[in-house]
Amino acid sequence: MSKDVEFDVCSLDKLKLPKNPKILIIGGGYAGLMTALKLQSSLDFTQENKPQVTLINKHDYHYQTTLLHKVAVGTLSVRKARIYYRKILKANKVKFVKDKIKSLDPENHCVYGNGGRYDYDILVIALGFRADDFNIPGVAQHAFKLSTLNRAVKLSEHIENKFKDFIHTQNPLDLSFIVCGTGFTSIEFAAELGSQLDEFCEICGIDRSIPKITCIGRSNQILPVFSEKLSSKAVEKLKKMSVELITNGTVKEIKEDGVIVEKDSKLIEIKGNTVLWGAGVKGSDVIEKSSIPNKKGKIQVDFQLRALNYNNIFVVGDSAQPTTKDAIHAPTAQLSSQMGEFVGTMISELVKGHEFNKPFVFKHRGTVCSIGHTDGVGIVYGKELWGEIAAFMKNTIENRWLFSIGGLSMVFKKGQFRYRTSN
Ligand SMILES: Cc1cc2nc3c(=O)[nH]c(=O)nc-3n(C[C@H](O)[C@H](O)[C@H](O)COP(=O)(O)OP(=O)(O)OC[C@H]3O[C@@H](n4cnc5c(N)ncnc54)[C@H](O)[C@@H]3O)c2cc1C
Repeated sequence: MSKDVEFDVCSLDKLKLPKNPKILIIGGGYAGLMTALKLQSSLDFTQENKPQVTLINKHDYHYQTTLLHKVAVGTLSVRKARIYYRKILKANKVKFVKDKIKSLDPENHCVYGNGGRYDYDILVIALGFRADDFNIPGVAQHAFKLSTLNRAVKLSEHIENKFKDFIHTQNPLDLSFIVCGTGFTSIEFAAELGSQLDEFCEICGIDRSIPKITCIGRSNQILPVFSEKLSSKAVEKLKKMSVELITNGTVKEIKEDGVIVEKDSKLIEIKGNTVLWGAGVKGSDVIEKSSIPNKKGKIQVDFQLRALNYNNIFVVGDSAQPTTKDAIHAPTAQLSSQMGEFVGTMISELVKGHEFNKPFVFKHRGTVCSIGHTDGVGIVYGKELWGEIAAFMKNTIENRWLFSIGGLSMVFKKGQFRYRTSN
């Protein structure tokens, strides 16, 4: 887990850049924003042949996707979650444009958004992920997804309304929450909700034994990226929050008021008026319908994160399908930001006319899954952690990202601390 990983080496053409090269980054998540910040800090914008760097994103703010479960439960306010691009990008170096990209035209070196055509000499694709429903009936219509800040806010309003509704309806289905998936997104959400139930029940005057959270996963252990020991620690903690876990269960259908699951060759129905789908992600639809070869919106890249066969297109974050000889890498914020930093450094060297032959090497620093605000399980630099120390490391990882994009003042303004949530 802590070993550094090098990517496969492919052939590479030399890239020739014109005067005042146009560098276009589409998507301002961990990967795209890090690329933009690296270019902002390393390029010379005072010379005559200065590059024109543009970042396009569909919202004018960045947010930490890894904290969306908190927004969805209401423990992180939307105001605190938003980080406006124009506050961290210097307009004379990186121009920010709020627009939604609709299509890519690699043959003519341009992309199209609602606002028109954007030309480039170098394109960095960083459009991130979206939920994958694997064509399971009802997922698209009836399940919430934690894929954007707006969707997380919608879920938080829905949960609040269900508690309010219950006071009048006394319908237990209003307080039955079903989470499909037992990976990071699902477990972090279930635990965050579980840790707030005492408070919600107290505020609304509801018996604490009424709300139920059920988590359904296909594998036989939750958080399969971790060892059995860490997974059992997480199970113990979730059980204390009365989260019911169904392992080895396959979701067959999501209905308005429940989920049909196949377990031990039998179909069972779990009833509930709130369903979260956290069981899979895929790449952007803009990539999927483009002429660039891709698999479910993800583009295979070479050892320097270039799209195969396009020497002026780099792909970073969840849009990229990086592979080594023996592994496909799980899409994470950590991998995305390292890719962004690498591509930013490389483009800056190319613009300066320097050779850049280094391969991208991913450094696994660790992964932590939060279980509520003050608990968690994870691995950091190869060492397994759980409890408060894991929660502390999770906050440190989140704050490290804030530091890298906006220094200490950003950490103090937007950071996660032991006793400081926004509720
Ligand atoms: C709830 C949750 C918890 C997670 N927890 C962890 C964790 O603990 N650790 C970890 O390492 N990873 C975690 N992940 C995974 C991690 O968040 C992703 O791997 C990471 O966000 C990918 O970064 P990215 O820059 O590729 O894409 P994103 O962060 O998805 O950013 C993509 C950007 O592109 C923009 N965009 C998309 N389409 C368009 C368009 N058409 N036009 C313009 N702009 C567009 C979006 O607005 C967004 O700003 C979690 C994910 C979720 C959902």
